Amino acid sequence: MSHCYTCCRPSSSDQPVRLYNTLTRRVETFTPADPGRVTMYVCGPTVYNYIHIGNARTFLVFDLLARTLKRRYLNVVYARNITDIDDKINAAARELGSPIGAITAQYDAAFSDDMAGLGLLTPDVVPYATGHVAQIVSMIERLIASGHAYAAEGHVLFSVGSFPDYGKLSRRDTEDMLAGARIDVAPYKRDAGDFVLWKPSDDTLPGWDSPWGRGRPGWHIECSAMAETHLGDTIDLHGGGMDLQFPHHENEVAQSQCAHGGKIFARHWMHSGMLNLGGSKMSKSLGNTFHVHDLLRLVPAEVLRYALLSGHYRQPLDWSEALIEQSVRTLDRLYGTLRDLGDVVVEPASVTIPPSIEDALDDDLDTPKVLAAIAGFAAAARKATDASERADYKAALLGAGLALNLLQLDPAEWFARGADDSDDARIQALVDERNAAKAARDFPRADAIRNQLAADGILLEDTAQGVRWVRRRATDPDEIRRVLDPDR
Ligand code: AMP
Ligand code: ZN
Repeated sequence: MSHCYTCCRPSSSDQPVRLYNTLTRRVETFTPADPGRVTMYVCGPTVYNYIHIGNARTFLVFDLLARTLKRRYLNVVYARNITDIDDKINAAARELGSPIGAITAQYDAAFSDDMAGLGLLTPDVVPYATGHVAQIVSMIERLIASGHAYAAEGHVLFSVGSFPDYGKLSRRDTEDMLAGARIDVAPYKRDAGDFVLWKPSDDTLPGWDSPWGRGRPGWHIECSAMAETHLGDTIDLHGGGMDLQFPHHENEVAQSQCAHGGKIFARHWMHSGMLNLGGSKMSKSLGNTFHVHDLLRLVPAEVLRYALLSGHYRQPLDWSEALIEQSVRTLDRLYGTLRDLGDVVVEPASVTIPPSIEDALDDDLDTPKVLAAIAGFAAAARKATDASERADYKAALLGAGLALNLLQLDPAEWFARGADDSDDARIQALVDERNAAKAARDFPRADAIRNQLAADGILLEDTAQGVRWVRRRATDPDEIRRVLDPDR
């Protein structure tokens, strides 16, 4: 690979990054148009509920990609939007009787907390649909002016017939694409496949003034306008879950290319595989979800990351108790090895990602290969007796972990399962207060304290020596089973 040494850095393995491109259905060398500014857009969440662990898989995959690209190029602009205008949000607000802004604010904050709790990087740009209505309106005006869209009965529709490449990304033929659209075709559509860019809002719905009356944008145009605003007409890479290929991404391509005089929208498309539960896609609409918000309270974030990266990102992955338990066991073994290597001094500066690990990532983000290499380094470290060999393997283990954001904790911290000792005095005071309440036969107060402690993960045990308290081990199989029980 030839390198421009002023704006980009060669990878330590000196290999180009090769990524599967949905457009060509091939693993290809990723070649940004301008290595001095690499642009990447990922469709973010619609904020009307907590995200589930399936959503987290997709966000984690693109977090790994962003980290990997940021080591290859000095300036990677990673944008992941927040969809805060959507009819699903409006429906949730109606159902809960809450203002729309309160719902989006609550779940946007929860999303940030979940991403931080999972240990994901904050993207460089986090655009909100509500902050881009002017750009959306401008894009729609350009689409109408160039004959790719038309206004009808307060709506504006994209005319799919005006874009011959429609269906190219998802490789669907017109019949396939129309199969769903034909049912109940709205009278204002010229063609059953035409999709909404703008729709009218009554007084109960969020709306903005526009040349077509008070209304709100459709979901697809939001992403096209946000990508245009922050990354330009042509972006290097666009990502999202496999389920967004059609219609969302197909529609983004149509809108953006037609608004930009035919310029290619995204040069490289990446789609991550679905997280399933018992063979069905985990999804809000099926109700078979586990919220990251709940899981993070019981399972260390690193276990979730390990479990989600254990399969290749393009393959479906089944979420199960066994997957979590296996991830806990593997991480226990790896941290156990690091604990046994506690006497081996490795300077933080000497911890770099080994070339073999960079190679595996450059080969379409082959995380199973990275995890196998990590297991190999640990096994070799356990066998090594020579001091310098032990130091080399420890550095390799930590360096490989760095690539996937794993194994960066102190082993003692890992085995403490995140227990925070600073809380001990408060807990003991509550336990003492409960003992006093029991002695005074104030049972309601004693029960209230027990419940409060239980909610904090503190279990009380009555022993011959009095009441003892223990912290719930976040990785107890029983506990995990309870969280993973879909009938909970
Ligand atoms: P949504 O809020 O439904 O638009 O989803 C946000 C992101 O999560 C999108 O990139 C989806 O493709 C992705 N996603 C949704 N369900 C799953 C799943 N079961 N497994 C992996 N990714 C998913
Ligand atoms: Zn999108």
